[in-house]
Amino acid sequence: MKTIDSIKNLILNKKITVENLIKKIFEDIETRDKEINSFITLSKTKALEKAAFLDKKLSNGEPVGELFGIPIAIKDNINVKNERMTCASKILENFRSPYNATVIEKLEKEDAIIIGKTNMDEFAMGSSTETSYFGITKNPLDLSRVPGGSSGGSAASVSADFVPLALGSDTGGSIRQPASFCGVYGLKPTYGTVSRYGLVAFASSLDQIGPFTNSIDDMAKILNIISGYDEKDSTSINIKVPNFIEELKNIDIKNKTIGIPDEFFKEGLDNEIKNIIFEKIEFLEKNGAIIKKISLPHTEYSVSTYYIVASSEASANLARFDGVKYGFREKNIKNLLEEYTKTRSIGFGNEVKRRIMLGTFSLSSGYYDAYYKKAQKVRNLIKQDFVNAFKEVDFIITPTSPSIAFKIGEKISDPLSMYLSDIYTISVNLAGIPAISIPVGKNSNSMPIGMQIIGNYFKEAEILNISKFLEFNK
Ligand code: GLN
Repeated sequence: MKTIDSIKNLILNKKITVENLIKKIFEDIETRDKEINSFITLSKTKALEKAAFLDKKLSNGEPVGELFGIPIAIKDNINVKNERMTCASKILENFRSPYNATVIEKLEKEDAIIIGKTNMDEFAMGSSTETSYFGITKNPLDLSRVPGGSSGGSAASVSADFVPLALGSDTGGSIRQPASFCGVYGLKPTYGTVSRYGLVAFASSLDQIGPFTNSIDDMAKILNIISGYDEKDSTSINIKVPNFIEELKNIDIKNKTIGIPDEFFKEGLDNEIKNIIFEKIEFLEKNGAIIKKISLPHTEYSVSTYYIVASSEASANLARFDGVKYGFREKNIKNLLEEYTKTRSIGFGNEVKRRIMLGTFSLSSGYYDAYYKKAQKVRNLIKQDFVNAFKEVDFIITPTSPSIAFKIGEKISDPLSMYLSDIYTISVNLAGIPAISIPVGKNSNSMPIGMQIIGNYFKEAEILNISKFLEFNK
């Protein structure tokens, strides 16, 4: 299993050159990813150039960055300068990014190597990576199953051990759910703590960039690099970022209060998942944590609230893809209106169109008050549930998903059942708080089970702390 230190040690102890390491990684991807399809675009030439540059830097004795030579995969809705960025959509099939997202600038500065852009649900709308224009991604642990979504390619690239690190985006669960399906760690930070500059907007008030890793130490390392205020993102929050690695030095769960929300353990939850989560809760209690039953009473409204808020924002955000400024334009047209309608009809897939229609309807005059405004009010109640809960507890523990990775094709023709696969993750985005999914065991088919640990605003360091305790005592 690849980690930052295992790779860095090989390089710094001169066991392998960065160039040879990167060559090997591409060989591996070119063979095994034919089946898995975790990448849409591979950045081989650029990655090898950077590798050679880093080798030179090392032999010149220059200082090396925190991620020196570390290969990383990037979800294809994050801008990497001069690379293709498709959002897994036909409408952006040949679009190239004119600039770097802030997170990319930060990774480059630390000498990371971007390997390629990963597959996803089109415009991050989905939970299975089946809505991609570039074909489905398969779960590396069982090729008949989905990797989750929408950041399925990023989760699969880490789970397949192509790379130790990947970035994804999470609007309603798209980092945590695929992390849980693929048996890796996935974190959605507090809204506003990682810059969204250069992330293609789906639902701007919910979207957050976050990492996938094989270990909690790596999660702390990458979080140290990508977090922090960015004047280019108007929703970025200007507060001091802790040193997440230092914060991991004292792991202590004694007297920490853990809330178990009744609403998350009701019908619909797979029994094997429930049992493993309760085993972990008991284990935490045995080691000094205080377990407390809590209630998040508005949970039942989270999926419906999310689909109104997210679709409304999506309908506004995706209006820019009209054939004029970006990507694909249908040429067989008679006038401007036809250019818009034909480009969008041909360029967007069915799920994206469904969201745009749902959002446009919710925002239209006459329905705005009944849907959008109402949803905003309920969103506030959902957020308030968490604010109240965190007056009494330090963490909230839930399953990440009600099921393990489902079979390819199982839910794609039933949007409602697909929407329900994010039932445990969505309310976290509506509230803007941080949460992680950590692998806690396997079911009887040897498929991984993920547990979600939710913290209060800006409590990422505490979340990593308890996660590390569980990782250590696996
Ligand atoms: N599955 C949810 C949706 O389709 C969440 C997606 C996401 O987090 N990007 O909207």
